[in-house]
Amino acid sequence: MAKLNKKNVDNLRVDGKRVLVRCDFNVPLKDGKITNDNRITAALPTIQKLISGNGKVILCSHLGKPKNGPEEKFSLKPVAERLSELLDKPITFAKDDEVVGKNARKAIAGMNYGDIVLLENTRFRSEETKNIDSFSKDLASIADIYVNDAFGSAHRAHCSTVGVTKFISGETAVGYLMNKEIEFLGNAVENPIRPFVAILGGAKVADKLNVISNLIEKCDTLIIGGGMAFTFIKAQGGAIGGSLVDNEKIDYCNQMIEKAKSLGKKLILPVDTVVAESFPDPIDGKISVMTTPSAAIPTNMCGLDIGPETQKIFAEAVKTAKTVVWNGPMGVFENPLLAKGTIAVASALAETDATTVIGGGDSAAAVISLGFADKVSHISTGGGASLEYLEGKTLPGIEVIQDK
Ligand code: ATP
Repeated sequence: MAKLNKKNVDNLRVDGKRVLVRCDFNVPLKDGKITNDNRITAALPTIQKLISGNGKVILCSHLGKPKNGPEEKFSLKPVAERLSELLDKPITFAKDDEVVGKNARKAIAGMNYGDIVLLENTRFRSEETKNIDSFSKDLASIADIYVNDAFGSAHRAHCSTVGVTKFISGETAVGYLMNKEIEFLGNAVENPIRPFVAILGGAKVADKLNVISNLIEKCDTLIIGGGMAFTFIKAQGGAIGGSLVDNEKIDYCNQMIEKAKSLGKKLILPVDTVVAESFPDPIDGKISVMTTPSAAIPTNMCGLDIGPETQKIFAEAVKTAKTVVWNGPMGVFENPLLAKGTIAVASALAETDATTVIGGGDSAAAVISLGFADKVSHISTGGGASLEYLEGKTLPGIEVIQDK
């Protein structure tokens, strides 16, 4: 396994100290209820270790993308409730529009050893995503030690992931989750047992197309499905109807096709696609679908899943792999009619003896909800972060942590 030379929670003495822990509690919510608590359970080992060490544990996280300051629907309150159930322990939720305002400071002042306080959504402060010192200083002022266990946010230089480390008086360390993520992903990238197959899908086309250049160099086969595939198909002259596309990346996709050829790497794209007249609304609602060649999608249709022929081709390519990294579902898996492609790839992964690493909140949700969680080696909690890590980039949230 790749080893991370950063301080971790085992290297800390937290007895009697206030420990600020940046978690990734960016969980999916529907009508105020958490629909998947994977990210909360993943944070438990670090929290439990700090409580048992008699620290005063102050948790913080972002949730969603509040645009103009505090918004009730992005409050972390439901997370506090779920966390309290999971730990079987009361958690004080510091409701506070300033995140580190009067209420939060009062809650922290009243803490005993082993207590837990959860702060309000860090993105309620406009400085957070701009990494402006005023909020970083506020965060640092309420703690003695800083722990970053938010792998899913480690690729962002924000106040709660990077800025706070400039001002915190004591030690900084990574949590268990961060450590585990880096060990698995690091191994897949730096030391993969070959053949190494990378699978990309999902909808964040603009973000994800960028990683392809690096992935092509590192893997032996690159499979592209989901909403990612259509920019490539269009680049090759195919008709993609109203499917997801990034028109600015057409040239880039052609370059990637050439790059794969010149490096002797396999780049596999869908040959058939499940299409519908529009994106399902609600997402799991009834929808009428048909299958067309991927390069001949009618203008009034959009591609929403890989077709049966493509499922076979992708499954075959995975069969002989020894390392597989998968980021992004093959279709709109939230809808049973559009989940078949994702199920087919998940089943193929479950049948290999390869080391299988799933990156991405939605890919992870798909693998878990489809019942394949115990068949894969590691489910990463960070989509963008795992991609950037796979790209070989240094993640700022890890970089700033003190070395051992
Ligand atoms: P995250 O970035 O949140 O960690 P992820 O990397 O696993 O998640 P995303 O890129 O966010 O994945 O994409 C997931 C979404 O992509 C799903 O909600 C799915 O419905 C959608 N999706 C998959 N295929 C298509 C498609 N062909 N057209 C439109 N949306 C699609």
